[in-house]
Amino acid sequence: MPEPAPVSPNLPPCPACTGRLRPWFVKRTDRGDYGVCRCRSCRSGFVMPRPPLAQLAALYRNPGTVADPDRPTSTRAVGKPGGAQRMAAWLSRLAPGPGVLDVGAGDGLQAQALIAVGFAVDALEPSPAARARYRQRNGVEPFNGFLDEAFVATRAATYDAVLLSQVLEHLADPERAITLVRQLLRPGGIAVIAVPQFHSWLSLLSGRRDMFISPPVHLSFFTRSGLATLMRRHGLEEVHAESVTWFDQARIAARARPPALGPALVLALRVFFGIADAAGGGNTLEAYFRKSG
Ligand SMILES: [Zn+2]
Repeated sequence: MPEPAPVSPNLPPCPACTGRLRPWFVKRTDRGDYGVCRCRSCRSGFVMPRPPLAQLAALYRNPGTVADPDRPTSTRAVGKPGGAQRMAAWLSRLAPGPGVLDVGAGDGLQAQALIAVGFAVDALEPSPAARARYRQRNGVEPFNGFLDEAFVATRAATYDAVLLSQVLEHLADPERAITLVRQLLRPGGIAVIAVPQFHSWLSLLSGRRDMFISPPVHLSFFTRSGLATLMRRHGLEEVHAESVTWFDQARIAARARPPALGPALVLALRVFFGIADAAGGGNTLEAYFRKSG
């Protein structure tokens, strides 16, 4: 029997589509217990209630917080190689000009690929360790801070593209974040959102053991339709989306028993994820949205 979730019965509307949320389960972590809900309409999932903002701010300013905890160095994209370069190529096709803001820029890998194809990149990053690595890689220091009203006030309608790669799932208030993204964009500008894809094939197989359900780090679990609805409510229409699976091949191979089966296990997963990507069921969703005039 599924355990009842001790979340508030007065759940807010779905942060993605404003539909009705219902309790799903309680995620127990070493930082505490978190209620997880799912939307009856768009099927996205959310941690409710949200953790206190002060706790989240401390989490991301902590020098020990790695730039991108989701993506170890042995991780590779499976069905659609190229990673950062592929996203830069798509943005070259879609963005009306060269000005990009990379929100939560991490160690600057994506910015490097954008700069290489001619984009002028501003970056925003709260973690001192990540800013130092960004500076080593790209020669400039990101702005220190979070996406907030003060940052946007002096930069409204100045960017041709705003990138949130593995960021939106971390934020307590996606509605506010997308409101600010829209304000930053010029008419015709592109918002790029990359998030773990809830209800990917692996996510469906994993259920409540989905590796991306990791509060307080991850708080929102977007389906493609949930994300598209959130963006559309802010005048941002999807113009391209693809699913891309990343997995840590070295870690998977090391887990195989007997160890000699490691290469066969990795090969089998590459086939599985390759088909999932082609069918839109890959682990990560990379989606591009255009701001209407
Ligand atoms: Zn919803």
